[in-house]
Amino acid sequence: MKALRGIAASPGVAIGKVYLLDHEDHQSIPKKSIKESQIPKEITRFQEALTQTRAEILNIRDKISKEIGQEHADIFNAHLMVIEDRALIEEVMERIKKERVTAEFVFSTVLKRYVQSFLKIDDEYLRERVSDINDVGRRIIRNLIGTHRRSLAEIQDKVIIIAYDISPSDTAVMNRKNVIGFATDIGGRTSHTAIMAKSLEIPAVVGLESVTHQVKDGDTVIVDGKEGVVIVNPSPSEIQKYKNEQIRYQEFSRGLKKFRDLPCITTDGRRIELAANIELPEETTSVIAHGADGIGLYRTEFLYMNRQDLPDEEEQYQAYKRVVVDMAPKPVIIRTFDLGGDKFLSHLEMPHEMNPFLGWRAIRFCLASPEIFKYQLRAILRASAHGKLRMMYPMISGVQELKQANKLLEEAKNELRAKKIYFNEKIEVGAMIEIPSAAITCDILAQEVDFFSIGTNDLIQYALAVDRINEKIAYLYEPAHPAVLRLLKNVVDTGHEKKIWVGICGEMAGDPMLTPVLVGLGLDEISTSPVMLPEIKKIIRSMSYAEAQEITRYVMTLRTGAEVVNYLKMKYQQILRNSLIKK
Ligand code: PEP
Ligand code: MG
Repeated sequence: MKALRGIAASPGVAIGKVYLLDHEDHQSIPKKSIKESQIPKEITRFQEALTQTRAEILNIRDKISKEIGQEHADIFNAHLMVIEDRALIEEVMERIKKERVTAEFVFSTVLKRYVQSFLKIDDEYLRERVSDINDVGRRIIRNLIGTHRRSLAEIQDKVIIIAYDISPSDTAVMNRKNVIGFATDIGGRTSHTAIMAKSLEIPAVVGLESVTHQVKDGDTVIVDGKEGVVIVNPSPSEIQKYKNEQIRYQEFSRGLKKFRDLPCITTDGRRIELAANIELPEETTSVIAHGADGIGLYRTEFLYMNRQDLPDEEEQYQAYKRVVVDMAPKPVIIRTFDLGGDKFLSHLEMPHEMNPFLGWRAIRFCLASPEIFKYQLRAILRASAHGKLRMMYPMISGVQELKQANKLLEEAKNELRAKKIYFNEKIEVGAMIEIPSAAITCDILAQEVDFFSIGTNDLIQYALAVDRINEKIAYLYEPAHPAVLRLLKNVVDTGHEKKIWVGICGEMAGDPMLTPVLVGLGLDEISTSPVMLPEIKKIIRSMSYAEAQEITRYVMTLRTGAEVVNYLKMKYQQILRNSLIKK
């Protein structure tokens, strides 16, 4: 038995067999054995991957030579040298025979050693070739795995997926009924894997660093998504303990069901709109089942992923209309697409960036590609004819961007008007506040929009300079940091001064312990994963607004995130105790 600690990403307990997923673009390849009879096939597979990679590189070299010049094309000669290195090829083939493991595993270990030896060489030029070696290595591995990478669509039994990372396209094709848990090497609480797992209500732990190396296909594991623990090959008594935990969690969730149809209102009558975040149109069923007042964040970029073309206006219109009609008369906020960061498209040729979260992402990409953006704007406007639809822009950093986006929206409206296509002329438009510059200048932004929605997932990473998906610095990712609380307070107070409403839609909104502060800050709307809504509603219905404001006033005087968390833990218990006494 082995217990691994990671980051709790989606609550619940799963007990089941491991389904190990390869990661095609990384050298973290799990060790998998093969039968003696498979050796010749494995060697052929390796040789074919080399041939295919060679052809790819020759192709790129020719293209670059024609388009940019011979001297740039010469870089690819270094790539070819790796593929043609006899010693490396012989060693891989020998080890496949001797060790009876997959070609990609042997190749990745040989390659790692190769890289290490280059790094030790006292020659700048040769050391710099390491990135070429890594590059060609990735290509070979991709070609090796690409042909036989298991598809999540094929899963037949109930399994727990263990992976380096699970991409949005993996989750899109996954047979959801048979996937009972997730555990990944990388990622943080707000990475797309964590967000997806929560919306699918699958227990998950992320950021385990090397879980893919600690398990084999078919091992039994326990995923405890609340504590962030994965237990490999547990003892019978450990299994029993977690089965009891599973029952406790199910009873807890059942107990919360009664809140579904009750209003989200404090004991002294302040009403807060409790909304849900979704990634896919079909999630509206779960949103309704958990008693949401509406949808506070529909992340539309998932419509653009896992496909070879862009969704056209009509397809988008049908998807948005479906969500609006399903939810009517409740409101729906569509967030215009936010690609980049940790969500990419393979076919859009977005350049590789050193800092994708600081790069060409979301509204920046949209403003640079107005035609693509306007397909979406027109689709949203058309869907606004069918219910209560609002829209908002992600990653606004200043008023100039907001004005440009609104200008394109006006153009889209004019295009529809010219064709006499009906839409809601008074559609409410908001800005996400998720960049510190926007939080600080929100008084200026407020003049251009009808509402703000604070995206704390990004706001925290930018305010604290902590990459939201990097597990190594996850301990610094503190929603309760005084800097974050002060930014939130500024946005809510300023928004209200300027007479616009303010919501919050980052993962922080789904942490029940933080609910008293969010209510006390005066937020008008809280939007989070459907699965978290009943618990949040329970807390809101158990306290008064006056009490929440007092808690917030005190919390704003504290000096560290840890002090805030300790105090809020105590208050959280107190609120629950008092609500039991009052019953
Ligand atoms: C956020 O940044 O808080 C947010 C809700 O958007 P996303 O997680 O999609 O970046
Ligand atoms: Mg964001």
